[in-house]
Amino acid sequence: METNYLPPIPLSDSNLKITAIETSIPLDLFPGLLLCRIHTDQGIIGCGESYYIPQAIEAVIHDYFTHRLLGADALAIESHWRFLYERCANIGVRGAELKALSAIDLALWDILGQVCNQPIYRLLGGPVREKIKVYNSCGNPNYGPSTTRAHGWPGMGTIGEPGPLGDSWKLFHEPAALAKELVELGYSAIKTWPFDTAAIMDGPSNISWKDIDEAIKPLQEMRDAVGYDLEILVDGHAHFHLPAGLRIAEGLREIKPLWLEDIIKMDNINTLADFRRQSRMPISVSEMLLTRPDYAEVLEKQAADFVMIDPTWVGGISETKRIGDLAQTYNIPVSMHDCTGPLTLFAGIQVGAALPNAFYQETVRAQIQTVYKDLIDEVPEIKQGHIDLPTRPGMGVALNPDLFKKGREGYRISKLK
Ligand SMILES: [Mg+2]
Repeated sequence: METNYLPPIPLSDSNLKITAIETSIPLDLFPGLLLCRIHTDQGIIGCGESYYIPQAIEAVIHDYFTHRLLGADALAIESHWRFLYERCANIGVRGAELKALSAIDLALWDILGQVCNQPIYRLLGGPVREKIKVYNSCGNPNYGPSTTRAHGWPGMGTIGEPGPLGDSWKLFHEPAALAKELVELGYSAIKTWPFDTAAIMDGPSNISWKDIDEAIKPLQEMRDAVGYDLEILVDGHAHFHLPAGLRIAEGLREIKPLWLEDIIKMDNINTLADFRRQSRMPISVSEMLLTRPDYAEVLEKQAADFVMIDPTWVGGISETKRIGDLAQTYNIPVSMHDCTGPLTLFAGIQVGAALPNAFYQETVRAQIQTVYKDLIDEVPEIKQGHIDLPTRPGMGVALNPDLFKKGREGYRISKLK
């Protein structure tokens, strides 16, 4: 009987069968993370990840997705993606469902890469470049990770402490030295979020010119220190309404940022397009969107100059590649979000290596050099503002097996009976 959805592919001897799915929430290291491993009957293990409200993602994977995946063909990535997406679309396809699908999709691509003995970017048709250009976001070792066992609110992290990796702190206290240091290391761009404090105190409808002047001062000091050797990116973490956003854009005009990211809320794409037209500034949109329909509306309404994607939120490597290709048809470059976990970074690198219109990969050196080391077996090295393409098969990295030990808090496994 024909059906209008995709049934599981019949297994043959050559298929890899999914035998178990494990998840781990590393509450002691990075409490917003959901780590995932898919096991197969031939011993290959795929790693995946998503971020934010991990307990909800864990529930979707174990209590919902395993009914489709356990015992199924591990290599039928598109079949599983479409089936799970459509079942989730029936109930709103937002939040935890898309994040769970993203984590699974990463792990399945990791398995396929290992089976083929190739990095994922080769299976996507790459490479189209020899290395990935990155910028440094002004995080700090505790921006995201936490010792309190609870993740904070998005866009409301603290500026942290002074120290070699305290880039949030340096942005406000030593911006010229920070800019010089990054240029010396070979970075070509820095991401800042100087308006968060004003937003939390006074937002979202207005921001005073005094607060704007105060927030822009460090950016001006960076310009004075290194001129245009460093592109400046400004993220508003979607704190503001349109009138406040327009004031911020006006205040930033002389700084000449590469882009303004998520200054206003992403709730209404018509308003976003209006913001772009009125501000006459380059606008980046946005890791806060999910799946192609969201991005298609943004592109069709000419609301963005740059597209930003989080591979572990939009629907994994599969959907990131498709959104990137969609943006290409509008001649819009695509950058990949991180700040949220090591496999998010690696997934962005893998797709970026195969996407002609990939532009920048976000990186947070304060996380890569600290907590990422505890989560994966090999952290990427940033050299002259670039990361070399991974050479290992699959994702190019594996999650730390100690995080998947039976009895560890935050660990859960579902097995084929
Ligand atoms: Mg952002």
